Amino acid sequence: MRKEAQSGETDMQTQILDEREKSILRKEQRCRGGGINCESASVSGAVSQRACVYCGARVVLNPITDAFHIVHGPIGCASYTWDIRGSLTSGSTLFRNAFSTDLQERDIIFGGAEKLAAAIDEVMQTYKPKLIFVYATCIVGVIGDDVDAVCRKAEEQYGNRVIPVKAPGFAGHKAEGYRMACNALLALLKPHAASTRRLGINILGDYNLAGEMWIIKNYMREIGVPVIGSFTGDACCETLLLAPQAFLNVVQCAGSMLYLAQRMEEQFGIPWIKASFFGIEDTTNAIMNIAELSGDKGARARAAAFTGRESSLAARDVERYKAHFAGKKAAIFVGGGFKAISLIRQFTEMGIETVIVGTQTGKADEYEVIAGLVNSDAVILDDANPAELEAFMKEKGADILVGGVKERPLAYKLGMAFCDHNHERKHPLAGYEGVRNFTKEINLSVNSPVWRYMYPAF
Ligand code: SF4
Repeated sequence: MRKEAQSGETDMQTQILDEREKSILRKEQRCRGGGINCESASVSGAVSQRACVYCGARVVLNPITDAFHIVHGPIGCASYTWDIRGSLTSGSTLFRNAFSTDLQERDIIFGGAEKLAAAIDEVMQTYKPKLIFVYATCIVGVIGDDVDAVCRKAEEQYGNRVIPVKAPGFAGHKAEGYRMACNALLALLKPHAASTRRLGINILGDYNLAGEMWIIKNYMREIGVPVIGSFTGDACCETLLLAPQAFLNVVQCAGSMLYLAQRMEEQFGIPWIKASFFGIEDTTNAIMNIAELSGDKGARARAAAFTGRESSLAARDVERYKAHFAGKKAAIFVGGGFKAISLIRQFTEMGIETVIVGTQTGKADEYEVIAGLVNSDAVILDDANPAELEAFMKEKGADILVGGVKERPLAYKLGMAFCDHNHERKHPLAGYEGVRNFTKEINLSVNSPVWRYMYPAF
């Protein structure tokens, strides 16, 4: 229910639905010691910024470069393609193709299983792929095609993996799709559990946007701890199957991959850590922690020398921009809480105050860390909607919004600078190189003269 405007209430207060109040942590609630409502279903009618279950699954699996992705559903679901999620590849480019069974009214009435079987046959006979993911989207969840049976039969017939991802958009929210994708990866890995470990790690939750996985791999090469499996940026079927040999799983995007790390610990005995490669402090900590856990003295020494050198060079470059950031305020709305934490730290390193922090799928412990990093009057939101974001950006006088494709128009409508920290960006923001790119981009955006010519939004 939408709150009615009372005399004396600001516009912002009238934008908040009663049911959303507990998902927004403001100063007064924090003073009372209340937590935030999170990890729950979106409020019906609130126009959540969250993606659907299918999109959550697709974002995790799509970067596997030699996999085929067949979307069993109406053609609209298949509009989610490589073109809007630009993971780079050092090998196959098969993943840049999109396939759909293009379900029509007739299929919905009489069932679409035959059409799916024919689509798999065509892909197998034309491309002979090692791995196919079949996504069942909303309408298939309603009509109940037996997608498992079709995939199982195709595996038996062709001897290649055909893994169903039953992800109707309505079955929860984006985080449920992450879990389904992780289960699909587990189904792939399970027959390849290794009995011996070796010096090497898996990176979980990096999607090689603008080559970020390559930056991390270079760092690991520098300290002598190789990356065995990458989930899923620049991954291919062959390298994924080696992942059970790693001594450690390093989880970068906790929102999407923490579940996989936990299951791999249970099933393969591989321990995991969370590590972020965004910002100087977090990048340095990530490299040092990995070196420490490798138990290799040489790796520790190389990591200390490398991070010492690179962090001071990056800090010197950030320092040069600090005068341009004086008095600037940032708003953050990203997918997961762990990334938001890194971004707050990064803005602090740059001398920018974070006044709004929101995530699509943050967890209670992550929101606690966030509350400890920002000033007491910063607003923290779980699963925000456009009206809330706009209202709080106006109220807090934010100068720049960091988000993804769905947030960009919100900022521009308000005559505010924007930085894309999601899957469409074309330059890397991870590692020390990323620190330089991020600092330059924020400076160019927030100090652009264009904002002086915009209509006054607030
Ligand atoms: S909500 Fe349903 S119909 Fe829409 S993209 Fe997601 S799976 Fe497809």
